[in-house]
Amino acid sequence: MSDSVRSSAALLQQLKLDQTLNDKLIDSEFPYKAPKHFISQIQLADSKDPLLKQILPVEEELRQTEGFSQDPVGDFKKNPQPSLLHKYHGRVLLIASPKCDIHCRYCFRRHFPYEEHTNQRHWQEALNTIAEDNSLHEVILSGGDPMSLSEAAVLKLSQQIEAIAHITTLRIHSRTPVVAPDKAIQNKWLDWAQQSRLNIVIVVHCNHANELSEQTKELFAKYRQAGITLLNQSVLLKGINDSVETLKNLSHKLFAQGILPYYLHQLDKVQGASHFEVSDQQALALHEKLRTKLPGYLVPKLVREISGEPYKTPL
Ligand code: SF4
Repeated sequence: MSDSVRSSAALLQQLKLDQTLNDKLIDSEFPYKAPKHFISQIQLADSKDPLLKQILPVEEELRQTEGFSQDPVGDFKKNPQPSLLHKYHGRVLLIASPKCDIHCRYCFRRHFPYEEHTNQRHWQEALNTIAEDNSLHEVILSGGDPMSLSEAAVLKLSQQIEAIAHITTLRIHSRTPVVAPDKAIQNKWLDWAQQSRLNIVIVVHCNHANELSEQTKELFAKYRQAGITLLNQSVLLKGINDSVETLKNLSHKLFAQGILPYYLHQLDKVQGASHFEVSDQQALALHEKLRTKLPGYLVPKLVREISGEPYKTPL
C-alpha cells in the first residue's frame, strides 16, 4: 500500500517512540506491514499500545515453543485444489487474495504459501468445483484478505458466485474495513450487493475498541443500509485484549457501529506467536466474567480451531 509505513524503524519515529525499541525488532519472513489508518489509531509515545503490539515484529517471535507449528489449523492438508479450502460441511473457502493490508503478528496463516493458491486461473477452477457440488450453499471469500483486491475484482468474483444457483450465501472475511476503511469495498460493489439475491455477510476482524473510528462507523453504516449482516471475530491476545474491561468495551463499541460479536478465538498455535498465548484456564475465567457484564447477544463464542474437527470447538 502506497500509504503504509513500510519499515518498523520509520514507524517508531512517526509514533515518537524510543528508538532503542528498534534493537528488539527482527527482520522476519513475514515482514512488518500496517496501513496509515490503523497507525493513526495508535497512541503516540506509548510502547504498550494494544494496537502497536499487534504489528511490531519483536524478538519473541524467534522463540521455539513446543506445540507451535507452521500449519496449526491444518490448512495445508485441507486444500483439495489451489484457491479452495473445504473444511466444513456446506461451505467452502475461496482464497481470493495472497495479500493483506496489515500483517498481524499472531496470524495463523503467516506461513501459508498464498502465492501458489491465488491467480485468476485457480479461481475459475475453484468456481467450476463449487458449481459441480450441490452440497455447498455458502462461499467464503478469505485470504490473505479479499478486500486487498481491487473492487472490480471482488465484484466480478461476487457476480460469478451469484450465478451459481445452489449458492445462497456469500461471506467475506476481512480485516480491511477495520484497519483501512478507505480501501474497503464500497461503491459499485455495494450497488450490486443491494440488489443481489444472495445473503451477504461480512465478518470483520477487530481485537480492540481502539481500532474502531469515525471512518469505520461510516463504512459500517453503508454496509448495513445495503442489508449486509455484520459480525466480528477477535483473537484473544495476551497484553492486548486479555481483560474483561477491554473485551466488554470492544463488544459495546462493535454494537454501537452495527456489528455483533461472533467469535473470540483462542490463539492458533502458529510458530512465532507463542508470546500472545493466553492459557485455556485464563480464557475460560475471562469469558465467564464477561457473561456477567454483557447481555448474551454481546458475548462472543469462545472457540478454538482444531485441525480435523468438523466445526470450531467451543472451549
Ligand atoms: S488480516 Fe487476517 S489473514 Fe491477514 S495477517 Fe491479519 S490475521 Fe492474518
